[in-house]
Amino acid sequence: MASIVDVELMPVAIHGDSSGECDGTVDTLVVRLVDENGLAGIGECDAPPTVAKAFIEMPSAHIWSLNPIDILKGRDPLEVTAIWQDIYDGTLYPGRRGLGIHALSAIDIALHDLAARQIDQPVYKLMGGARRPYNTPYATVFPGMPQGRSMDALMQIIGSRFARAVELGFRAVKLELMFDDLVDDDRLIDTIREARKMLGDDIRLLLDFAYRWRDWQDARRVLNRVASCDIFLAEATLQHDDLHGHARLSDHTDVRIGGGEFAATRWELREWIETAKVSVLQPDINRCGGLTEIRRIADMAELYGVQVVPHGWKTGITSACGQHFQASTLNAPHVEYISPHLFDSPLRRDLAPFDLQIEDGRVRLPEGPGLGAVLNDECVERYMVKNMVKIA
Ligand code: MG
Repeated sequence: MASIVDVELMPVAIHGDSSGECDGTVDTLVVRLVDENGLAGIGECDAPPTVAKAFIEMPSAHIWSLNPIDILKGRDPLEVTAIWQDIYDGTLYPGRRGLGIHALSAIDIALHDLAARQIDQPVYKLMGGARRPYNTPYATVFPGMPQGRSMDALMQIIGSRFARAVELGFRAVKLELMFDDLVDDDRLIDTIREARKMLGDDIRLLLDFAYRWRDWQDARRVLNRVASCDIFLAEATLQHDDLHGHARLSDHTDVRIGGGEFAATRWELREWIETAKVSVLQPDINRCGGLTEIRRIADMAELYGVQVVPHGWKTGITSACGQHFQASTLNAPHVEYISPHLFDSPLRRDLAPFDLQIEDGRVRLPEGPGLGAVLNDECVERYMVKNMVKIA
C-alpha cells in the first residue's frame, strides 16, 4: 500500500466574461492526490472552482463537519468506497447534497485514478471490469447561445457540426435546443424536423430542451408532434425539480424521458426513478458523487429497468470518466461525449487531453493505467485562478 501524502487543489478558469453563454467547460476545480511514491491521480467537479476548493479546505469543527483533506491523508486509495463514506459522513452538516457532493465527486475521481495507476490498470477494472466489448458515446452539438444570431445562422452551424460528427464516426448525436425566444413551440417542431432531415435517418437523435417547459402538457404536445422523427431521448424537458410533472409526461409520450443532470447521490436519483418515473437517468459523474456513486446509481437503476446516460460537459477528465463508466456498465446505452472537434474549448482540449477514435459509432475500451487523461501542467498554470473573482 502507498498512502496519500498530498492533496492539491487547482481552480482554473478561462479569462473573460462568459456569463451569457451556457458552457460548463469555462472553469473547473482539479483535485490531485499524490501518494508516497510520487504517483498522482486527478479528478474534477462541475461547480464554481474556488467555492468547491473552499469546501475541501474548510477547517474541522466537529464530527459532522470535518476537513476532507485530513480524512484523505495517510489513506490507501484502493479503499475508495470506505474513504467516500468517511468524507460523506464527515461533511454531513455542509454536504450531503449539492456542493459538498460535487467536491466529493472530484476527490472520488482522483482516488480512482490514483488507485488504478498504483495497480497499473485502467479505472474500469476497479469498477467491476468490462461488461461490454466497446463503448458508444454520443456527440453533443451546441452552436452556443443565440446572442443576437438568427435561427438561419444557428441552423447552418448545426448542419455543419452534424456533418462533422458523422465524419468523426459518431452514430448518435444530441442537439441542444437553446434558442431563447427565437422559436415558439410550433417553430421548434419545424426545427426538430429540419434537424432530423439534416442528420438523415441512420443516426440516433437525442434532444436537450434546456428546461423549456413549466407545463408537462406543453412538452407532451411537442414530443408527440415530432414522433415521426424517431427521437431516442428527450432531456431537460420540464423544470429540474418538477418530478411529478416528469412522471405525467413519461406516462403520456412514447419518447424516452430523461433527466437528473444536477442530482446528487443515489438517494436523490432514486427519487428520479420512483417519483419522476424517467426512463433514463442522466447524472453527471463529477456532480453525483463520482465513480463510486455512479456505479451504485447504475446498479440501483438496473433493478427498475432504467438506463443511465451520464451528462458530462467538462474537461478530458470527465470525458475519460464516461468511458470507464460505460465500459463497466450494462444499462448505459450511451455516454455524453464533448468532442474537442465539435466544441471549441481551451480547457476541454488542453487541460487533460483526451480524445477518442470512433469507428461506426464504436470506441475501444480504455487501455493503459488510470483514467487515461493526464494533467497538462502548463495549461493549469496559464488558467489558474490566483485571486478570487471581483464582482463589480
Ligand atoms: Mg443538457
